[in-house]
Amino acid sequence: MTIKKNLAEIKNSLPEHVTLVAVSKTKPNEAIEEAYESGQRIFGENKVQEMVQKWETLPKDIEWHMIGHLQRNKVKYMAEFVSLIHGVDSFRLLQEINKQAAKHNRVIDCLFQIHIAEEDTKFGLDEKELLEITSSEEFKKLKHIRIVGLMGMATFTSDQIQIEKEFKQLKAIFDNLTNSLPNISILSTGMSGDYKIAIKEGSTMVRVGSSIFGSRNYH
Ligand SMILES: *Cc1c(COP(=O)(O)O)cnc(C)c1O
Repeated sequence: MTIKKNLAEIKNSLPEHVTLVAVSKTKPNEAIEEAYESGQRIFGENKVQEMVQKWETLPKDIEWHMIGHLQRNKVKYMAEFVSLIHGVDSFRLLQEINKQAAKHNRVIDCLFQIHIAEEDTKFGLDEKELLEITSSEEFKKLKHIRIVGLMGMATFTSDQIQIEKEFKQLKAIFDNLTNSLPNISILSTGMSGDYKIAIKEGSTMVRVGSSIFGSRNYH
């Protein structure tokens, strides 16, 4: 019952234009089913193998989002069903997604991940690299991917001003990018600890795990 209660509380606090991705990584099917029963259909995972296993065994109307760092050799396992890839951080990865999507006659929606945090353990492009990709002729040739927005992770800190600054920086990059990609609409920012700040700073998609499913146990 706690999952349903947590989910209801979070959903009620979100503005209408903000989509909730329930981050179910490391959690068993039963936890996902409980969220599913209360109407949640979008789930986020960060390991391809785990996501494939869950996709195979859970209801087929679930939309699976890959939110983790993605290796090119893993794209093929999820190209058939993944509905949004949040962490695209290189052109070579995008080419591979395009290639695997073509095999399934699909167009896969993707977000470019932008590095905004102070830690360099977090992945992502800077604005210059982003513009290099989006202005290239090679990029325009990719017909089996669609860039629908940007994703970013703020520094893990209790400094609210710092987090706010990083989300503002990403929003500015997002707004600039609409010059070349006018159809982008998704700004994926905000996790359990910072989604309220993220929404204030323009997020349209929050990725919330532990506040719904409880803390994760990796052992
Ligand atoms: C795990 C994860 C989340 C969710 O984190 P919580 O703090 O549990 O809400 C969000 N985004 C990404 C990329 C993650 O890996």
